[in-house]
Amino acid sequence: MVQQTPGQPDSLKMIEKLISYDTTSRESNLELIEFVQGYLQDLGVESQLVYNEDKRKANLYATLGPADRSGIMLSGHTDVVPVDGQNWASDPFTMRHADGKLYGRGSSDMKSFIAIVLAFAPEILARKLETPIHLAFSYDEEIGCVGVRRLVEILKDMPFKPAMCIVGEPTDMKVVIAHKGKQSYRAHVRGLESHSSLAPQAVNAVEYAAEAVTYLKGMARRYATNGPFDEDFDISHTTVHTGVFHGGTALNIVPKECSFDFEFRHLPADDADALFAEIQTYVREKLEPEMQAIDPDSGFSFEELSAIPALDAREDDDVVTFVKSIAERNDHGKVAFGTEAGLFQKHAGIPTVICGPGSITQAHRPDEFITMEQIGLCETFMRRLIDRLDKEAI
Ligand SMILES: [Zn+2]
Repeated sequence: MVQQTPGQPDSLKMIEKLISYDTTSRESNLELIEFVQGYLQDLGVESQLVYNEDKRKANLYATLGPADRSGIMLSGHTDVVPVDGQNWASDPFTMRHADGKLYGRGSSDMKSFIAIVLAFAPEILARKLETPIHLAFSYDEEIGCVGVRRLVEILKDMPFKPAMCIVGEPTDMKVVIAHKGKQSYRAHVRGLESHSSLAPQAVNAVEYAAEAVTYLKGMARRYATNGPFDEDFDISHTTVHTGVFHGGTALNIVPKECSFDFEFRHLPADDADALFAEIQTYVREKLEPEMQAIDPDSGFSFEELSAIPALDAREDDDVVTFVKSIAERNDHGKVAFGTEAGLFQKHAGIPTVICGPGSITQAHRPDEFITMEQIGLCETFMRRLIDRLDKEAI
């Protein structure tokens, strides 16, 4: 193969363009999506937009190549995390090219992948591939993989559902075959207020909440000590964590309300629903009877904040061997961060791996960047993918 210089002009122009849209998750992503829709339209490709409730945001789905067969889906999220309070050396939404790096919000996570895929669209179409490449670009990934769920609902019933999916989250172009799942909850604790001198006649919401948090900490210790373990993950076991705790107004008042947020980040082998059931059982059997003996209206309620299924591809799955052969790698990795890959696999039934340019250690930071080397590797990946799909029907 002819050696190419990393960062062909079309890729760089497209990366610059995508970074210029402030698609922080709280903002609309429509300007970016409409730009992509227009770009594809100019190439003769129609896009399907799947909007959110108030039509301020949309997923985009498009097929390059024959529409009557399954093909490969390339997927990425268009939203980025906020820059608030971060100290950037230059405007986060203006791409800066210096020292072999491209700086800008989303450069690593994950607009460069989307941009490179789009920059290759004219070539994909010109080659008239045997196997189509589908593009799936989502919104609201960074706030719990919210947006893509509407697209997943449509994908799962498609007559020619993609045969496999590559999510281009930053993995330094390593093939990532698994990630942990995440389920998070808010617990609301209702107590009974009184003057603190009458504490035994009241129900102290803060104290019962604290007992539940202590129980969660015990679960965390148990998983850290007893496993199960999967040493391919950097944190090799399921983790349990409480991140927010609110309650009480004054020391001389027995607090009537308390709330706390907690999460399970679980190995694919662990069942998040069973983890949640355990804390619920503890609350129902140990805490609420004591609370309700004083006030029948007191107790706990739980609100689900997010549920991202784990990704769990096997080493010998077709999608894994296929993507490894395109990436020219024999190794693979597992990561702790959640992505849309788990949803594609579990809810749409599409075998999925993660492989994309840039490093997760750069993501979400001030002066986020991607190296030109990573851009080059992703371009090579795209050329090899196109060459393969030119000949092979999938
Ligand atoms: Zn991401």
